Amino acid sequence: MADENHFLYALSSNNAWAGYKAHQNPQFFPKLASGQTPQILWLGCSDSRCPETTILGLQPGDVFVHRNIANIISPTDINTSAVIEYAVAHLKVKHIVLCGHTSCGGAFASLGDSRVGGVLDTWLTPLKAVRMAHLDELNAIRDDKARATRIAELNVEAGVKVLLANFTVQDAIEERGLEVHGCLFDIASGRIRDLGYGTKGGHGFGLDGSEDVVRGKHAQLVFRGGNASMAIR
Ligand SMILES: [Zn+2]
Repeated sequence: MADENHFLYALSSNNAWAGYKAHQNPQFFPKLASGQTPQILWLGCSDSRCPETTILGLQPGDVFVHRNIANIISPTDINTSAVIEYAVAHLKVKHIVLCGHTSCGGAFASLGDSRVGGVLDTWLTPLKAVRMAHLDELNAIRDDKARATRIAELNVEAGVKVLLANFTVQDAIEERGLEVHGCLFDIASGRIRDLGYGTKGGHGFGLDGSEDVVRGKHAQLVFRGGNASMAIR
């Protein structure tokens, strides 16, 4: 019953939202229906607290999305690979944002020795491998949350390496300057931090002075030399 109520609430909420959007801008839905030209491919975690378009302050049509448990980028996962290929080769997005997050259940699970069960342990294997590769560093972190945040960062670093080794991504970087960004979303503050693992490299903010702005309806996402920041307009 509770689930049914949640679903009915969601449906009525959708109805109210669609009415509001159409009232605010009568061309909003007709324009959306005519096609999509997203500038960002978002690769993130399925976690309910990380809804990419919402936390970026952007709108439907702005972000092409693939999310899975613990935002694991595995080159043999045909789902992830198909999304990347379509977004990069066909939609020609300008940015790939691989974003992990704090308090990730997948990160906590990969730090423990107990099995989750079913297919989940298989899925988390790449994250377990990240843990083994950085065991000393991770074990030296006493705080459980900080350790989970660190492995989430290392997971993003590993994922960015997989992205940069992808031929479709490589061609787009070379031919039209596609940018790859490795980020972490801090759930407790709502802020996204650029980890500097992507095409711009390092943690240098605004090193080359370049600025790339992705405009949404209520905010814009500004990429400055590998550092993403939000500006509310
Ligand atoms: Zn997660």
